[in-house]
Amino acid sequence: MDRVVIFDTTLRDGEQSPGASMSVEQKLEIAVQLGRLGVDVIEAGFPVSSPHQLEGCKLIAKQVRGPTIAALARAVEKDIDSAAESLRDAERPRIHTFLATSPIHMQYKLRKSPEEVLELAVRSVRYARNKVAEVEFSPEDGTRSEIPFLCRVIEKVIDAGARIINVPDTVGYTMPTEFAEFLRAIIEGTPNMDKAVLSVHCHNDLGVAVANSLAAVRAGARQVEVTVNGIGERAGNACLEEFVMALSVRNDLHPYSTGINTKQIWNTSRLVSTTIGFPIPRNKPITGENAFAHESGIHQDGVLKKRETYEIMTPESVGRDSSQLVLGRHSGLHGFRNRLAELGFELSEEELKTAYDQFLVVADRKKEVYDDDLYVIVSHHLGRSADTINLEYFNIISGNVSVPTATVRLTMGEERFEEAATGDGPVDAIFNAIDRALGLTAQLLEYVVQAVTPGRQAMGEVSVSLSIDGRKFVGRGASTDILEASARAYVNAVNRWKTFQAATRTETESDDTV
Ligand SMILES: [Zn+2]
Repeated sequence: MDRVVIFDTTLRDGEQSPGASMSVEQKLEIAVQLGRLGVDVIEAGFPVSSPHQLEGCKLIAKQVRGPTIAALARAVEKDIDSAAESLRDAERPRIHTFLATSPIHMQYKLRKSPEEVLELAVRSVRYARNKVAEVEFSPEDGTRSEIPFLCRVIEKVIDAGARIINVPDTVGYTMPTEFAEFLRAIIEGTPNMDKAVLSVHCHNDLGVAVANSLAAVRAGARQVEVTVNGIGERAGNACLEEFVMALSVRNDLHPYSTGINTKQIWNTSRLVSTTIGFPIPRNKPITGENAFAHESGIHQDGVLKKRETYEIMTPESVGRDSSQLVLGRHSGLHGFRNRLAELGFELSEEELKTAYDQFLVVADRKKEVYDDDLYVIVSHHLGRSADTINLEYFNIISGNVSVPTATVRLTMGEERFEEAATGDGPVDAIFNAIDRALGLTAQLLEYVVQAVTPGRQAMGEVSVSLSIDGRKFVGRGASTDILEASARAYVNAVNRWKTFQAATRTETESDDTV
């Protein structure tokens, strides 16, 4: 009873963050890393919502061993069938079905009476139980539901075979003390609650998702739904690494354990960040660049004398290697491979070769290659599919008296696209040339440059966000040349748009979330 199950929904709720869509290969890569991190459950997606989602769930169910693989389904047979199909090859499949139980959702969204909702919930859980042994039920908008009704629904779905009852704070409205009382009332009001595991799913709209999750554990919850870097709908979900480290550092307050190998936290956070193109804020707890940096002289002095004066946990405990082994162009394939393995990357021979070639290009331009450079190299140059657009070449003429002019050549499989354009500055000219080459009308919403590692020869990483067809897509690119990084970031965002297009071509009407 002192074990808290970590249910990771980075690939489902996390992927619902605007601009965070991932390719099937990227999802698999993250799922494999989540397995290494030691999560108990991976929610792989919402299979009925698109063929792309179905494919992603199937691939993860087939290839990832260890964690339970969950798939989301509304309380309708079509969804449950799709979830069951996606999990056919899973070692430990779980169907996660949900139905709203709050007055506002029942009345306006579902247009159903409470009795109809109760009946539908029971029928769906029973239906799902005929497909897989493990069924999780979420009363959507749980925290705004009426407790007596919620208890009735929970009692009946447990009778129907649900083994996990997940109470979501779908709209991120509740507060820690209130949530704890709410959950205690549910435990008390549900006679068969001991036959199921109580779970929570908190959103961070008011910045208390992790605090709510911790309060829930103290109130009796034994599964917590989280995402890496706290990504998710709107302001995101409870953050995995913050929750796990809070539980671990303040184990005196919450004497519970998880199966997480905290030394994999740093890698996992970096992998998710570079995959979806969301930078980690410098001051982010646990995994931000500054999370263990001591600036003030008094603090530095204290830490040098005794670390615990200003550090409540060590960087090593979350997998941040303070040795920061530096590689150079003479490091060789062997050293490169070893360092990547230490950082948690397992690459195929072919991927390793591609990454190594890229490493040599970087090592040629800058003398020292840091771990953060390696994360960028690996994540930017792997997982490309055949229809991905690649930047083959660009040339730029610029200066303070000439009109900046750019020429670009892009390739997609066998196809080539080449164009030239002018712009207000060199970056603008490159972006215009790419638009023209691809026949695209994209609007640039955001453009950020940052250095990945210290020094004048640092790799620059560029993040852009584009609006294409009224939707936002983010992209990232890295190079020791910021113009090249800019072009790569732009192309990366365009590739995300293409992935999204492919994914949504036959998307169903579903917009529901938990
Ligand atoms: Zn959610």
